[in-house]
Amino acid sequence: MTGGVSHAPAIGIDLGTTYSCVAVWKHDRIEIIPNDQGNRTTPSCVAFADAERLIGDGAKNQAPMNPANTIFDAKRLIGRRFSDPKVQDDMKLWPFMVTEGPGDTPKIFVTYNGQEKEFLAEEISAMILGKMKETAEAYLEKNVKDAVITVPAYFNDSQRQATKDAGTIAGLNVIRMINEPTAAAIAYGLDKNSDIVGKINVLVFDLGGGTFDVSLMTIEEGSIFEVKAVGGDTHLGGGDFDNRMVDHCVLEFKRRWNKDLSGNQRALGRLRFACEKAKRILSCTTRTSIELDCLHEGIDFSLKFTRAKFEELNMDSFNKCITTVDTCLSDAKMEKSCVDKVILVGGSTRIPKVQYMLQDFFDGKELCKSVNADEAVAYGAAVLASKLSGNTDNSFQDVILHDVTPLSLGVQIRGNVFDIVIPRNTRIPTSKTKNYVTSFDNQTVVDVKVYQGERSRSIDNHLLGEFRISGIPPAPKGVSKNIKCFEIDANGILTVTAVIVSTGKMEKLVISNENGRLTKEEIEKMISDAERYKREDQEFKKKADAYNALEDCLYKVTNKIEEYNIKKSVHPVILKEMKKAIAETTEWLEDNQAAPFAELHLKKVHLEYVCKPLLWVSDQLSSLNIGI
Ligand code: ADP
Ligand code: MG
Repeated sequence: MTGGVSHAPAIGIDLGTTYSCVAVWKHDRIEIIPNDQGNRTTPSCVAFADAERLIGDGAKNQAPMNPANTIFDAKRLIGRRFSDPKVQDDMKLWPFMVTEGPGDTPKIFVTYNGQEKEFLAEEISAMILGKMKETAEAYLEKNVKDAVITVPAYFNDSQRQATKDAGTIAGLNVIRMINEPTAAAIAYGLDKNSDIVGKINVLVFDLGGGTFDVSLMTIEEGSIFEVKAVGGDTHLGGGDFDNRMVDHCVLEFKRRWNKDLSGNQRALGRLRFACEKAKRILSCTTRTSIELDCLHEGIDFSLKFTRAKFEELNMDSFNKCITTVDTCLSDAKMEKSCVDKVILVGGSTRIPKVQYMLQDFFDGKELCKSVNADEAVAYGAAVLASKLSGNTDNSFQDVILHDVTPLSLGVQIRGNVFDIVIPRNTRIPTSKTKNYVTSFDNQTVVDVKVYQGERSRSIDNHLLGEFRISGIPPAPKGVSKNIKCFEIDANGILTVTAVIVSTGKMEKLVISNENGRLTKEEIEKMISDAERYKREDQEFKKKADAYNALEDCLYKVTNKIEEYNIKKSVHPVILKEMKKAIAETTEWLEDNQAAPFAELHLKKVHLEYVCKPLLWVSDQLSSLNIGI
């Protein structure tokens, strides 16, 4: 990376449950940036090994060997409480441990560098975002600061807040958060091949690894995007399909051998890996098999899997996707025949049954697969990043975006009733006020509980936070008024204020840690932790390089001394010295595998110095092209 002085463009990051992707405006177009392995998407996976932290492909590749310390699915935890039934269900299948932290926050437990460590989902997501930031920095050769990060349209306020915090921990300035299907629609709208004329109705169907989103919107002249309604499930995707397959295998193993492998994390990890692969194969062929040697207690496991079986296991999820599309259309009061384009996004839309059911729902309409299912979201995010940073090299300044809030927001009133202030699918940014009165005589204090959701009983919804308005002048019930103001910004994040009308006294809702939100101090600590881990990674790499360099040098001189007949050109005393140095260094390296960088480096310098005549002779011979 050079400098840090020059200004890097803002990047767009699709932070997916299973894969993440980063893009930027460069060379007069949006570029999807490949990672250090040359891959255009990076597994959202972090692994902690004995001495090393791995993020992305490296982490995913070693997952079957190190299941307890390989963290994936952090997006399924972010902004959720430990007691959330979804978290409790997932925990049963994750090979890593999740424990209950203060304020009902889930904590991920790993062993790293021989020590036990706990991380919040925000920190794991921050590590992935950090990796995407580094990928962009290596490509742009500049330090990157500003980013647009995508979130599922159906994420609630806590999940959005927590994602924003993850960005901050990763050292990013999150200039905007955009809904994933909206970003995908931008990619479609700006695609030259989609030749949009006038105003069209588009339904984006985004089924990924962990989340499902539907978004119904209009695109006008390819540049004005207006979301009409969104729907979805933040807990439905390819990962669930894999789990069903794993469950099926566990049952089958039990049936055949009467042995339960559900407590064997390593076996479960290997099974999940194999099932995911089989699932992908079943998208193009109708049958495959899973073969795993020594899966559990020395027993080999082999199972034929048909596409029909896969579909049967997941039919309820597929049906749920179609029902969600139906609800989304009714929310927007639109007939399905009015939808001009159905756009497929996300890896799981490659499943033939999903495509078939969706096409059938739209009475045989052709589905649009022209946008890249894995990259469209990052593409759209990069367009918005470029627009927001005022880049005038492109036409993105013309892009206009109107998004909506996915879930209704309101307060609890008497009798545990959820009173909606902002209904779902209201265009954002927005602010709405509502008047409330005291509910008993001489009431001086009101406890305001803010919820998000669609259920009429407040406690069935998601509690975002609570605060108290005090100092209300005593008066008969129903006389003292207070106004509650709900504001949603362009990121979909909420602020609530309440004012006592007669006194003008104001209270603002600050969602505290107790409600799953991190405090400023906690975020600052996490930022410094993240920087420390990054330094540790760099130091580890430096040390590993020095170790390899010393080993290479030893290998080279040991071979040379045997290969060349150098007795004639080197004095016997020097030869003896060299042999001694080689023997000593070999022994030292065996005993000092964990030596620090400086010692390793010094050993190499010394060895090279002593063996200089040998290296000189071999260089001379090779420059003369004299073979041996
Ligand atoms: P996310 O955005 O949630 O990270 P992606 O859109 O990257 O997810 O999709 C990843 C999911 O898609 C994974 O569950 C993966 O197994 C699934 N997937 C990828 N390719 C296929 C395929 N050919 N058939 C079925 N599922 C697939
Ligand atoms: Mg996605």
